[in-house]
Amino acid sequence: MKYDVLIIGAGPAGLSAALYSARGGLKTGVFEKALIGGQINVTDEVENYPGFPQSLSGFELTEKMRQQAERFKAKFIDEEVTAIGLEGLCKIVETTQNTYRTKSLIICTGAHPRLLSVPGEEHFTGRGVSYCATCDGALYRDKIVSVVGGGDSAIEEGLFLTRFAKKVVVIHRRDELRAQKIIQERAFRNPKMEFVWDTVVQEIHGEGKIEKLEVVNRKTQAISFIPVDGVFIYVGILPNNALIESRLELDSGGFVITDEYMHTNVPGIYAAGDIRHKVLRQVVTAASDGAIAAWSAEKWILENYDDIEGLEDSESVE
Ligand code: NAP
Repeated sequence: MKYDVLIIGAGPAGLSAALYSARGGLKTGVFEKALIGGQINVTDEVENYPGFPQSLSGFELTEKMRQQAERFKAKFIDEEVTAIGLEGLCKIVETTQNTYRTKSLIICTGAHPRLLSVPGEEHFTGRGVSYCATCDGALYRDKIVSVVGGGDSAIEEGLFLTRFAKKVVVIHRRDELRAQKIIQERAFRNPKMEFVWDTVVQEIHGEGKIEKLEVVNRKTQAISFIPVDGVFIYVGILPNNALIESRLELDSGGFVITDEYMHTNVPGIYAAGDIRHKVLRQVVTAASDGAIAAWSAEKWILENYDDIEGLEDSESVE
């Protein structure tokens, strides 16, 4: 099976790359092993993607992106990619079921939540420890929950949890939040939000279910316990780089280094979205990366090959 462009990952970066590539007439395939949409799918309300003044859910937004790419005949391939390789200029993509060949490859594998790595975290995951307020928040109606972290995710998701919980205790390791000011102000105004500063969680305790967090104040070293029914952990994200770490140049955090054209160090391989080393990880910047990567891929194909696979006649877009 030969493609002009194969895209690994169908979050906003991959979906945008698919739209640009397929609309440009290139034979385009997109792999997604789980649900189309990526991390943003679990966001209840996206209010900073331009064009949607009333905001919409992450799932609704990526579903629209998928439909738009499909309209131009991007092909969605529900297979897990297990390896990538090179054969001259050609890129090989192995999945659990097939082997694909492509002229260019766009890596949009995204990122996943960082663990807190404290005793009790693994034991209580799915039973009080969660990384997704949208998925699990409703289980905590009139309960006390904690959110760990001070970034956009922690504070936005903490605010979301106030819809259900009677109290949301934000535990942050410094005395100042990292989240955007507008989100901070909303959180400080919300009477259900409480803040515990300069503090880290060192153990999650409970018998059968979570009962309390053991925390330590980083300035005084004082240890105390915070009673909670659940804890939502938002301490950053890590790159999904297992497929590429031996092939592509990465930064010290494992994110792919690209230039502004989304070129990686391998000609014909591009990276877009959260997997990239970048300053702002947002849906809008992921979509922008995807568009640039597809544009660069097309340019590279035209410079390096005599032909494109293109759409078959029967596939042409009405
Ligand atoms: P993030 O911005 O990296 O924030 C992670 C937070 O966790 C920081 O406050 C950090 O503390 C804290 N932290 C890290 N390791 C910790 C540890 N071991 N123990 C305790 N605390 C720890 O991550 P994020 O909030 O998941 O956001 C990821 C990216 O997505 C960001 O670029 C963000 O802007 C973006 N995002 C945007 C939106 C939006 O625009 N609506 C929503 C969600 C996410 P320090 O502050 O001390 O470093």
